[in-house]
Amino acid sequence: MECDIFMNKQTRLILSACLIAISLVAPALSPPSRAAARAAGAKQSTPAASPSRPGADTSQPARDERLWKKALEIQRKAIIVDGHNDITEIMVDEGYDLGTSSVGLHHTDLQRFKQSGLTGEFFSVYVDRKYASTDFAAKNYTTQGGSARRAMDLIDVVYRAAEKYPKDIIMASSTADIRRAKREGKLAALMGIEGGHAIENSLSVLRDFYRLGVRYMTLTHNNTNEWADACCDDARHNGLSEFGKEVVREMNRLGMFVDISHISDKTMSDVLDVATAPVMASHSSARALSNHRRNIPDELLKRIAKNGGVVMVNFYPVFIDEKVRVADKERDERLKSRRDELRAQFKDDPKRLADELKKLNDANPLPVTLLSVIIDHIDHIAKVAGVDHVGIGSDFDGVPFLPQGMEDIAHLPNITYELLRRGYSERDILKILGGNFMRAFAEVERVAHTQTRTVSGEGSQRRLEPAKR
Ligand SMILES: [Zn+2]
Repeated sequence: MECDIFMNKQTRLILSACLIAISLVAPALSPPSRAAARAAGAKQSTPAASPSRPGADTSQPARDERLWKKALEIQRKAIIVDGHNDITEIMVDEGYDLGTSSVGLHHTDLQRFKQSGLTGEFFSVYVDRKYASTDFAAKNYTTQGGSARRAMDLIDVVYRAAEKYPKDIIMASSTADIRRAKREGKLAALMGIEGGHAIENSLSVLRDFYRLGVRYMTLTHNNTNEWADACCDDARHNGLSEFGKEVVREMNRLGMFVDISHISDKTMSDVLDVATAPVMASHSSARALSNHRRNIPDELLKRIAKNGGVVMVNFYPVFIDEKVRVADKERDERLKSRRDELRAQFKDDPKRLADELKKLNDANPLPVTLLSVIIDHIDHIAKVAGVDHVGIGSDFDGVPFLPQGMEDIAHLPNITYELLRRGYSERDILKILGGNFMRAFAEVERVAHTQTRTVSGEGSQRRLEPAKR
């Protein structure tokens, strides 16, 4: 989930409106041949998206059919894991059923999962900052608490989807589960918590989330919490506090990835000092290419490589495309007073507010980002950290718009095609699509096995008590 503003139901409506608008203006996609779809082992009646888009951006060459066929063959073979998908929140807040087509409304549904070729998807257990018991930066914002309960609601909805569609989805919490899903032709539903305030400052709660199958946690969202500094908020702990370091050690002991997306550079550095297992960035890109605080600078990319970790590239244009980042910032400043007026005017009518904000954005469009920019980030991380340390972390359904050629989850095969076009070998593409994640995950599991034979083990029961904050 990506937002500089506080995400709530109202802004969710705005995002949905944006998605509808984008889908209406998106160019038609020409499908691959039926033979190519069969070659990819696709079960779907509607074929996967192709990189060839008649009438769209003419700077992109026509599809090379030989390469496209090869891309689909690799898709069929690969274990493909996406680090981050926010459809979970929509499932909880809007009662959205994954089995229902949501083309033009959301980025994700069951049918398009099949077209994507994905083996494993991390369903984000995104806990908005409004559920944190303390929000240091939200000066005009009242926090309501209930982070752990919110996380439980999101976890429950993932289990319910797997129970409702047992032929298509299995719950997964290990490398063995992901491999089994691949063998059975099902989607492995993994879960990662987004926002460390979800554990409500208790290592016992962290262990409970592990027991429920959660296999990563971003230590913060955009908000600094009571033990870790965030990318996009005031620094209060100079990185990780002592308790924050204990959280990292306990996650390593349990076998839960420490996810460094959303935390500050200093917090990342502290994590890399403390961690005894590989870290992951579930949805982060390269700062050298676009100067956003959510991206990772080269010196940290090199340290992540030494740690054995994996950086899964985020697709959001505002993060990955410098010209869009600058234009978005400029637009936010330019439209701030008008947006504030609209929010005041329609504060009791979220639907109308969403419509008006969308109209305002439509009248002030941002530049278009091409799919190739995603590949530029993969390429950069492969060069700086090594091809063994990069993956994909889409952020589908957590962002309001996406690059041309990557409009939804069904477009994922385009990444394989573009990597082939740039001369990547099949071996390296298999690593990028999921092999690197699997290697890092296996090491996280191995470290945990060496440190404890039970989930509880000798784990600390420490928690931050309100009186001691
Ligand atoms: Zn996020």
